Amino acid sequence: MLTIGCHLSSAKGYRQMAADAASIDANTFQFFTRNPRGGKAKPIDAADVQAFEELAQQAGIERFLAHAPYTMNPAAAKPETRQFALDVLADDLLRMEATPGQMYNMHPGCHVGQGAEVGIQLIADALNEVLAPEQTTTLLLETMAGKGTEIGGTFAELAQIIGRVELADHVGVCLDTCHVWDGGYDVAGRLDDVLEEFDREVGLDRLRAIHLNDSKNVLGARKDRHVRIGEGEIGFDALAAVVNHETLRELPFFLETPQDDLSGWAAEIAALRAARQG
Ligand code: FE
Ligand code: FE
Ligand code: ZN
Repeated sequence: MLTIGCHLSSAKGYRQMAADAASIDANTFQFFTRNPRGGKAKPIDAADVQAFEELAQQAGIERFLAHAPYTMNPAAAKPETRQFALDVLADDLLRMEATPGQMYNMHPGCHVGQGAEVGIQLIADALNEVLAPEQTTTLLLETMAGKGTEIGGTFAELAQIIGRVELADHVGVCLDTCHVWDGGYDVAGRLDDVLEEFDREVGLDRLRAIHLNDSKNVLGARKDRHVRIGEGEIGFDALAAVVNHETLRELPFFLETPQDDLSGWAAEIAALRAARQG
């Protein structure tokens, strides 16, 4: 059974996200833990979580992926910017325990001119501060397009971060098809080779989620512009091959494609379910 969903608004709480997901034949979903540009998170409503658990069970939703605000930068040079990232991470991971056993995705960070080595160490240090042995949440580092000073544009950089994390059992990777394509990994023409390289560098056991996006730009463009499935340079057939690939097919897939409303994602989910073999 294909586990697929899209990025939903969390404005009306967890129960509403399960309802929205169910309404478009999704059986998972992603959301921002707070305003994507940062800011304070709404307190967790225990009644909402309980209503969510009930609806999720009926709808066959077992997993979701919370996404950290994308402005947060644990590799920042400015102490106050870095402290903000640490505060957000610690608070989000605490809140995640209201829904035990789920996944939390973050962009590793940008080294802002300090160099990749410094950035990698700052990110690992941040994770060593916020991860707790007793947490049930798995923190995912997202593969990035490598634009600007982004860390995580190569599998090797993600492997270096994870290699320096003490509680690495709580850490995995989310592979974004648009980002890796823009980073120069040919998931359209050489998917097996890309996964082999991922396995060599990071280990496929670390791969826990896929962001399924087409890319506006050519292979290696380092741009990061998502487009709808089949409307970009990766193409529908290649993305259908991703959801069918024997080593990926049991993972949850999350669409982060630009859509005007839920019906756009409903159509993409229907098309990908139709393309799923077995
Ligand atoms: Fe992301
Ligand atoms: Fe993504
Ligand atoms: Zn992106």
